[in-house]
Amino acid sequence: MHLAPDSREALVAAAALVNTGRGGIELLGDVSALGEFFLVHGWTGRRDGSDAELDAVRSLRQALGQVWDASDVDDAARLVNAMLLATHARPQLARHGDVGWHLHMSSDADALADRMGAEAAMAILDLIRSGDIDRLRRCVSAECDAVLVDLTKNKSKLYCDTGNCGNREHVAAYRARKSSNSGTTRYAGRRDQ
Ligand SMILES: [Zn+2]
Ligand SMILES: [Zn+2]
Repeated sequence: MHLAPDSREALVAAAALVNTGRGGIELLGDVSALGEFFLVHGWTGRRDGSDAELDAVRSLRQALGQVWDASDVDDAARLVNAMLLATHARPQLARHGDVGWHLHMSSDADALADRMGAEAAMAILDLIRSGDIDRLRRCVSAECDAVLVDLTKNKSKLYCDTGNCGNREHVAAYRARKSSNSGTTRYAGRRDQ
């Protein structure tokens, strides 16, 4: 799979945005939480710091979550097209700070939610046209509804990046093995022995 570095970053940021509303905890609870998200994910450009901006980003988060939950690739493509229109996406090359020429999908003066949405939609578009939409998945942990983007070569990523899902499952498997060895639990396959 070839994905430009800015597409990869956009996908990671999009998954992180969706995950701010999953797991039963609101991580974009106020304007300052959004400010922190903005910095952590390297956003630049217009920032209103208003409740309206926060609401718009939360709506975008909802729409992006629907792409992850899409029933099939056609469904995902329709959602992406709708998002490109709604966010007034218009691709252009940009260069700032020590970052070389890269893709911006909006002007710096556009609303934050539109810029976030347009960049996420463009990156997902990249995945769809290269037959890689299955890289957008849910965390395999049964107790977790977070999303992930799998950028590994062999599509081997299982757990989200939000908390400790991978660790938790390994510890649970370890405990199950241990208690099985001490005779308190038996593997299903040994039931008849
Ligand atoms: Zn930029
Ligand atoms: Zn998880």
